[in-house]
Amino acid sequence: MDLIIYIVIFLIGIFFGSFYTLAVYRIPNREDIIHTHSYCPNCKHKLGILDLIPVFSYIFLGGKCRYCKEKIRPRYFIIEILSGIFFIVVAYLMKINYQNLNLEVILNFAFFVLYFTFIVIIAGIDSEYRKMDKKVLMYGVIISLIYMVYLCIIDFESIYRYVIYLILFIILLLIDTIYLKKKALDSYPLDILITIIIMIVFTSEFIVINTVIATLLSIAIYLILRKVQIARGKSKKTEKEINQEISIGLYLAITNIMFYCITLGYCKFLV
Ligand SMILES: [Zn+2]
Repeated sequence: MDLIIYIVIFLIGIFFGSFYTLAVYRIPNREDIIHTHSYCPNCKHKLGILDLIPVFSYIFLGGKCRYCKEKIRPRYFIIEILSGIFFIVVAYLMKINYQNLNLEVILNFAFFVLYFTFIVIIAGIDSEYRKMDKKVLMYGVIISLIYMVYLCIIDFESIYRYVIYLILFIILLLIDTIYLKKKALDSYPLDILITIIIMIVFTSEFIVINTVIATLLSIAIYLILRKVQIARGKSKKTEKEINQEISIGLYLAITNIMFYCITLGYCKFLV
């Protein structure tokens, strides 16, 4: 029975993996993520359902377009497989198995999937364009609010903690929509703060403190290496240009998911 559960989780993982690549590509281009048809980038032929099954279509079509036989980049296939494997790892660390499969376990996993979707898309768009997409950020705020309501239902005592985050969300969103827009200022730093609060709601204060420290360290190392390159004359970029190539959202996402898995693993094996 456990095997069936894990096969289902793997299938859910590869479908989400396929959705992530599509969302990161389409959202910044203002394309509809649900209704627009997918097409082959080479021959522009519309793709049917049989061409769009994650992982399996790629294998059965031999990694080529059904219509023009052009090779499909294996990148999508690899992301789908990795996403499937990652979902299995998290389900395993969450101790999901046939014996303890109840509503609470399913909801916990579902909330993780919603959160992971947010973090992957926000990081994917940030790494490509170095900006936080407002719609994705709003999605993150909305799932955080739903998750906080859920946590208050199962443990009413925690409500005081979440009221603080609710107030922070409101303050940051007000500054974002009223002040920064009026002055046409860059909202990137503020969007990072909103992302950090969403991370706290889903993964705890402890994990996010580690996340922020690891992110700052990684960025510091990156900046030092880049400055050495400039000092040696291997790069002609200015300091401002270098600062703007750092996608903080991507660093935060990677370190946050890493610490989240370490904590889950710690709880599974050592406690
Ligand atoms: Zn084609």
